[in-house]
Amino acid sequence: MPRQTILQGGSLAYRTTLLPLDRAAAFAKMIDANASRFADVEIIRSDRARTEKYFVQFRPVNRERQQDMYTREWDKNQKRADEQGQDFIYFLNTDNPTVTFVFNPHSGETWEMFGGHCQCPHKQFRLNAASLSCKHELEADRRRAAGIYPDADKKTQTVPTETREQFKARIAAMIAEDFPDA
Ligand SMILES: [Zn+2]
Repeated sequence: MPRQTILQGGSLAYRTTLLPLDRAAAFAKMIDANASRFADVEIIRSDRARTEKYFVQFRPVNRERQQDMYTREWDKNQKRADEQGQDFIYFLNTDNPTVTFVFNPHSGETWEMFGGHCQCPHKQFRLNAASLSCKHELEADRRRAAGIYPDADKKTQTVPTETREQFKARIAAMIAEDFPDA
C-alpha cells in the first residue's frame, strides 16, 4: 500500500517517510523539476517526530493515477469495514432518528453519525475532502442493504420498556454516580 494522503481539494498525494530538512529539500526540488508529472510539492514539518523531521508531499497530475489512488483509498476503508464492521454496534437515537451512534468494540471508540454522515476524525479530517466513506459508513451501508440496520430486522419490533422520563432519570443517576463532581 503506497503512502498516500488526501489533500484539502480532494486530490490524492504521495508522502515520503520522515527526512532531515536538507534531504527533504533536495528531494522536493527534484520533484518540482518534473512539473508536467507532479504538482503541489510541499515540504512539511512533522509535528509527531521527537526530533526535527520533515516529509515531502506531492501529487501526480495524471488523471488515471489519481483514479487509482482514489480506488485504493476506497478499498482500504472497505477492507477495514470488512474486517471489523460486523462487530460494530449501531445505536439509533429514538428521540432523534437522524442521529445514530456507532460503537467499535475493537477500539472502544464511539462516534455520532448525523443523517448517515459519520463524525469520526478519519472521516472529518481526511476522507471528507475526497467524499470518501469511512468504515463506519461502509458497514452501515452494508447493513442497510441487508435490512439489518441499525441492529434490528423487519420482523422483530423492539418496544421500549421504560418511559422517556424513566430513561432520563436513570441516565441522570448514572452520571451522578460516575461523575460526582459534575
Ligand atoms: Zn467513521
